[in-house]
Amino acid sequence: MARVLITGAAGFLGSHLCDRFIAEGFDVVGMDNLITGDLKNIEHLFKLKQFEFYEHDVSKFIHVPGKLDYILHFASPASPIDYLKIPIQTLKVGSLGTHNCLGLALEKGARILVASTSEVYGDPHVHPQTEEYWGNVNPVGPRGVYDEAKRFQEAMTMAYHTFHGLETRIVRIFNTYGPRMRLNDGRVLPAFIGQALRGEDLTVFGDGSQTRSFCYVDDLVEGIYRLLMSDYAQPVNVGNPDEITIGDFAEEIIKLTGTNQKVIYKDLPKDDPTQRQPDITKAREILGWEPKFSRAEGLKLTYEYFKSLPEDELYKKEH
Ligand code: NAD
Ligand code: UDP
Repeated sequence: MARVLITGAAGFLGSHLCDRFIAEGFDVVGMDNLITGDLKNIEHLFKLKQFEFYEHDVSKFIHVPGKLDYILHFASPASPIDYLKIPIQTLKVGSLGTHNCLGLALEKGARILVASTSEVYGDPHVHPQTEEYWGNVNPVGPRGVYDEAKRFQEAMTMAYHTFHGLETRIVRIFNTYGPRMRLNDGRVLPAFIGQALRGEDLTVFGDGSQTRSFCYVDDLVEGIYRLLMSDYAQPVNVGNPDEITIGDFAEEIIKLTGTNQKVIYKDLPKDDPTQRQPDITKAREILGWEPKFSRAEGLKLTYEYFKSLPEDELYKKEH
């Protein structure tokens, strides 16, 4: 039985990855310090003998007894309000946490995949973003703590690949959404749906002309699974190229929820990227992957999840 360590297992993406690897017949070791995650996301796995969980900060030395065939390093705050609140931990988990995971992979002879991000492209001058583009990041701006941690993560991972011959994979994830996002994590989709469900106006930052391209979580997980099983060590974009302005996205959420809320405009956060769309030619050609869920389908499934939550979740303050 192959055994995989998933860091960030109690988070949004980590928990879906745990489900997928369990379904594929793997033994799964989840690890998380619960700083932005929630055990509720994986509580259904605790009864399974194929699943173990360690509560641990991966920025500190990691010890996992027994063999490991694969490591997926997903631990890191991911939403702007999370990483602005804990900037040093964010830098540490991308750098020290990645170093610890790479060292563990070397010790165990495991293949490792690290979760990078479209944020390595910063506020991009190339559109759509190809993997060859080096990016436009402000290292000392507020988002620098996340973007530079991830850029360092990629550099460190590539160094282990070229210097130690470690089997490494790097996925550059574009905005992904779905069930188990935290309603109060500040990301645009849970923010808008939470506002609609509470009967509040939707807060569009700036004039709403900035764009994002949203990928449903099941599509992302499939892309990650294929990348891990491929033999390709260079970074690969995984995301849905269907681009939309945030203003239009707010209108879509208002229609979806049938709430007739208004849109109100707030200041655009500093260094907020003006446009973002993945070029997924590599994922198509190398992994035979492309997204299957339209935004309409994915949003419907996500809205059903948020509607099914107990009402007090709607009024929970930030983590
Ligand atoms: P999330 O906040 O839901 O999950 C992150 C998990 O990591 C949480 O459970 C948190 O408690 C855990 N964690 C954070 N620091 C840790 C540490 N030092 N030790 C152990 N556990 C720690 O976020 P997510 O959206 O699931 O993101 C997961 C990964 O994917 C992150 O690395 C993020 O950078 C990357 N990513 C996500 C997106 C997206 O759209 N969701 C986009 C690009 C990249
Ligand atoms: N955004 C917004 N209103 C909100 C939350 C976010 O208009 O209540 C905007 C934000 O400024 C950004 C986009 O939505 O332009 C996506 O933000 P998110 O935090 O989800 O992701 P990221 O900026 O990291 O891509």
